[in-house]
Amino acid sequence: MDIFKIDDLSFRYPDAEEEALSHLAIQLKEGEFTVVCGPSGCGKSTLLRLLKKDLAPVGSCTGEISYAGKPIMDWDDRTMIEDIGFVFQDPENQIIMDDVMQEIVFGMENLGYSNMEMRKRVAELVHFFGMEELLHAKPSELSGGQKQLLNLLSVLLLKPKVLLLDEPTSQLDPVAAKDLIVMLDRLNKEMGITIILVEHRLEELFAIAEHVIMMDKGKVVYEGTSREVIYDI
Ligand code: ADP
Ligand code: ADP
Repeated sequence: MDIFKIDDLSFRYPDAEEEALSHLAIQLKEGEFTVVCGPSGCGKSTLLRLLKKDLAPVGSCTGEISYAGKPIMDWDDRTMIEDIGFVFQDPENQIIMDDVMQEIVFGMENLGYSNMEMRKRVAELVHFFGMEELLHAKPSELSGGQKQLLNLLSVLLLKPKVLLLDEPTSQLDPVAAKDLIVMLDRLNKEMGITIILVEHRLEELFAIAEHVIMMDKGKVVYEGTSREVIYDI
């Protein structure tokens, strides 16, 4: 089943001469690991933010995005927030509390979850990731890689069906970047979370990406499996 269906999607920022996205048509399957790549400025972040219903008021948008069989505009905000998790490029952006546990449960408190439910989910996830030691650290003392894991963990607490990630490894050292990618692969394979990851280069994700979309100047210029990419390019 398609989890996202993007149909003739175009988007223009206010006062921009060119469209950031131009007549995109993309289908993303449930449970798939998709990597969207292409040069800086080709529209990757714009696409990702539109999937989360983020940009529509600040630009002109035509075409349609459907999530789980229904136009995203017809979904209520709570479902979109819970189902679709977003991880940004810079781990610092998202850290707002000064205690790791507080930071993790912040998203859930906002949505009115019970304390017991939150503690149970935190314990499950910390165990899944094998990151118990992280819970007792101060966010300000964490490395970039640990902060990015922390962001991921707080997003996962909402049990998203889809994870959208915008160049999540670009601020990390190579070891931390590899750890994060391994973690994402496990989330995809073991928890069945659909992953849509934006990256300007593909190399590190080659082995993991099932579905590769290459963009340039707001358009899809190539789409296929990573195996097909190797033989075609
Ligand atoms: P990418 O993520 O591939 O680097 P973006 O989606 O960020 O690309 O940008 C696509 C195009 O839209 C670029 O030409 C960029 O300069 C432009 N753009 C991005 N954000 C804005 C904005 N807030 N206002 C105007 N133009 C923007
Ligand atoms: P990314 O490639 O991750 O999108 P950018 O450096 O392109 O990062 O953009 C960083 C921020 O600047 C984003 O919030 C984007 O919306 C904004 N931005 C990018 N291009 C433009 C532009 N031409 N005019 C105004 N804002 C822009």
